[in-house]
Amino acid sequence: MKNLVEQLALRKQQDLYRQRGIVDGPQGVEICIDGQDCLSFCSNDYLGLANHPQVVAAFHQGLDKYGAGSGAAHLVSGHSRAHHQLEEELAAFTGRPRALLFSTGYMANLGVMAALLGHGDRVFGDRTNHASLLDGARLSTARLIRYRHADVADLAARMAAAPPGENLVATDGVFSMDGDIAPLQDLARLCVQQRAWFMVDDAHGFGVLGRDGRGSVDAAGLGVEDVPILVGTLGKAFGTFGAFVAGSEALVETLIQQARSWIYTTASPPALACATRAALQLVGSDGWRRERLVALIRRFRAGARQLDLPLLESDTPIQPLLVGDAGKALRMSAALREQGILVTAIRPPTVPEGTARLRITLSATHTDEHVDRLLDALGEMISAVKQF
Ligand SMILES: *Cc1c(COP(=O)(O)O)cnc(C)c1O
Repeated sequence: MKNLVEQLALRKQQDLYRQRGIVDGPQGVEICIDGQDCLSFCSNDYLGLANHPQVVAAFHQGLDKYGAGSGAAHLVSGHSRAHHQLEEELAAFTGRPRALLFSTGYMANLGVMAALLGHGDRVFGDRTNHASLLDGARLSTARLIRYRHADVADLAARMAAAPPGENLVATDGVFSMDGDIAPLQDLARLCVQQRAWFMVDDAHGFGVLGRDGRGSVDAAGLGVEDVPILVGTLGKAFGTFGAFVAGSEALVETLIQQARSWIYTTASPPALACATRAALQLVGSDGWRRERLVALIRRFRAGARQLDLPLLESDTPIQPLLVGDAGKALRMSAALREQGILVTAIRPPTVPEGTARLRITLSATHTDEHVDRLLDALGEMISAVKQF
C-alpha cells in the first residue's frame, strides 16, 4: 500500500498540491470565494450567461414542467422532449444533420473514441489537447500518437508512417490552456487526403468564435465533410452544463448504439436542457457579447504589452501569462488574490513541465475598468517580481 500522506506532502513541497475554493452565490465576474469578494478572471463563462436571468428563468420553468431528475438513461425513459428539442437546435446551429447530447464534454470525448475505434486503430492527437481526448484514446484501446502542437507537417509525417487501419485525428479547436486556435483548414485537408476521421473539440470556441458564435470550425469555413465529428460543451460560453457531438445521421446513430459513456449513464435533468435552449438563443441573438469580448481582449493585450508581460499569442478570451515555475505561479496568484483578484495558477500536469502559467480569462461582462484593475495589479507585481 502506498503511503498517501507522504505522497501528498511531497506534492505540496513541489508546489503541485491542488485545492478548491468555496464559492457562495452565483458565478460571475464578481464572485465570493472562501468568504472573499473577488474580481474573477478565471471562469469559462465567456459570455456571462451562467447567471443570466433568462437562462435561470428557463431552468425554473423546466423544473416546473419536468421536475428535478430525468429518472433514467436516454435509451430507457430519460430522453425528454426538452433534450430532443435542444439536440435539434444544436444540429441546426452547427449546420450538421444531427446532434447528440452528452452529460459532459469529458464523457463525449470518451464515448466517441471508444465507439469508433478499437485495438489496432490509431488516434493522432495534438500534444496540447485536453486531457479528455487523451483519456478517450486510452479507453478506446487504439494507439495514441501525439504530434507537435499545431504542427500539420509533423502530423502528416506520422500519418504517412502509419500502417493501414482506422485513423482519427483529434484536436481542440481553441486550446484550453493556451488560447490559440488549431490550424483547422490544414488539418481538415490532410484528413480528407488520408481518409481519416477528423474530430474537433470546440469547448472554448462555441459561443465565442464564428458566425453568431458557431465556433472555430465555422470561423474556418469548414462543414460536416471537412469535420465529421464536432464536439461542443455547454458549461463554458453557454453558461450551463453538458456537451454534444454533432455530425452525420450515421455518426449519431452509431453513437446511440455504441458510445458507452452515453448509453450507461442517466440523462441530465430535462430542466437543464430548457436552460441551455435559452442560452443558445442568447448566444445567437446577443452579438454584442462577442463584440465586447473582442474589445476587452484588445484592451488587455495592449495594456499587457506596455507592461512587457509574458503574454502567449492568443486572440481568444483565454489570455495566459507564462510564468514557468509552478511555485512562482502560485505565489503570483496568491499576490493577486490579496488584492481581490482571482486568477488561478495552472501547473503541471495540466500544462507541460516548466510552463506553469496564470490562466487569465475574459468575459463579456467584464468592464474596461475591471481589465484596467487587473493590469494595474499585474504591473505592480511585475515591478516587484524579484520577491516571487
Ligand atoms: C472543459 C473541456 C472539456 C470537458 O468538458 P466538460 O463538459 O467540462 O466535461 C473537454 N474538452 C475541452 C477542450 C475542454 O476545455
